[in-house]
Amino acid sequence: MIHLDSKLPRVGTTIFTVMSRLAQECGAINLSQGFPDFPIDGKLIDLVDKAMRAGHNQYAPMPGLPALREAIAAKVQRLYGFSYDPEREVTVTAGGTQAIFTTIGALVHPGDEVIIVDPAYDCYAPTVELFGGTPVHVRLGADMRFDAEGVKDAITARTRMLMINTPHNPAGTILRDADMRRIADLLRGTDIVLLSDEVYEHLVYDGAPHASAIRLPELRERAFVIFSFGKVFHATGWKMGYALAPAELMAEFRKVHQFNVFSANTPVQVALAEYLKQPAHYEGVSSFYQAKRDRFANGMKGSRFSLLPCQGSYFQTADYSAISDEPDLAFAQRVTREFGVASIPLSPFYKEPPAGQRLLRFCFAKQDATLDAAIAKLCGI
Ligand code: GLN
Repeated sequence: MIHLDSKLPRVGTTIFTVMSRLAQECGAINLSQGFPDFPIDGKLIDLVDKAMRAGHNQYAPMPGLPALREAIAAKVQRLYGFSYDPEREVTVTAGGTQAIFTTIGALVHPGDEVIIVDPAYDCYAPTVELFGGTPVHVRLGADMRFDAEGVKDAITARTRMLMINTPHNPAGTILRDADMRRIADLLRGTDIVLLSDEVYEHLVYDGAPHASAIRLPELRERAFVIFSFGKVFHATGWKMGYALAPAELMAEFRKVHQFNVFSANTPVQVALAEYLKQPAHYEGVSSFYQAKRDRFANGMKGSRFSLLPCQGSYFQTADYSAISDEPDLAFAQRVTREFGVASIPLSPFYKEPPAGQRLLRFCFAKQDATLDAAIAKLCGI
């Protein structure tokens, strides 16, 4: 047996895999891992089919197909009012997670500090550690809202990067323009890079705009902004996303990207380049998911869970302290086994979960029938 010194000694299997596996074993309704259970647009499938049959089956250019990078730049200009240079500032990735990994890999040196706001998506801290960086954890404030003071106190001379996420997974809250301006104030005059994870950009509700880091020149100039096609077009299994950054930053990103994946799936890029040209293909996403959010929230009124506000993403967090004082992982597992609905406990998203916090995350990116069946079971707890 060879002796291995684990590079990630405290990391086990991601909670998404753990809960999805348990859901499958128990035949439970899976509201845990975030993915839609309904079909994607047949037009998109036809475009991929056409691309494959037309012979687009070899490597795409390393930074992505030019036509797709142009379509991305046009969409971003349309939505956020700034034109990235498709040639030098847009890179197509194998999903948002790869874009995050590559950004951290390209920027973080051993000993660098990276500020992470807990609860945080579970790949952030381990990726920082893998590259020798030190995650510095701060927390969202009351009602899972961004706490600029906490971030301010965490900034030191060694801070290399601040990671933010809006709409937020798992909290379901969003950053507003005022939060973004405050972040710009905090970073002004520093060399801190901003990693803005905006993969749920289209899942913002109640008429609120998506406060992208792109909208503020001061932020954009120091930011990697990361997006996901999987979330917009209901195709998480395609593992397709993209990163945007100013040319000098993107040059560093591409040095890593080329050895990390080299390039992303070619026929899917050909299809997306065409599909993305029609704004109608993404404009309805917000109202589509808002209706699901509301359906789930209304149904859950009949339960003993108490729901936190959901302003964005396809996740609804729910407090179960009226039901049980079990720790969240144990409770989530018991609900899966005994009541047939799988969810995600929130504690794995923290370095140290707040004492006594009793929260589960439910994914409502599901067919109405799936949601209704889950609601019926959850109301029986
Ligand atoms: N983003 C998805 C979620 O939050 C999970 C992705 C994954 O399993 N890696 O549920």
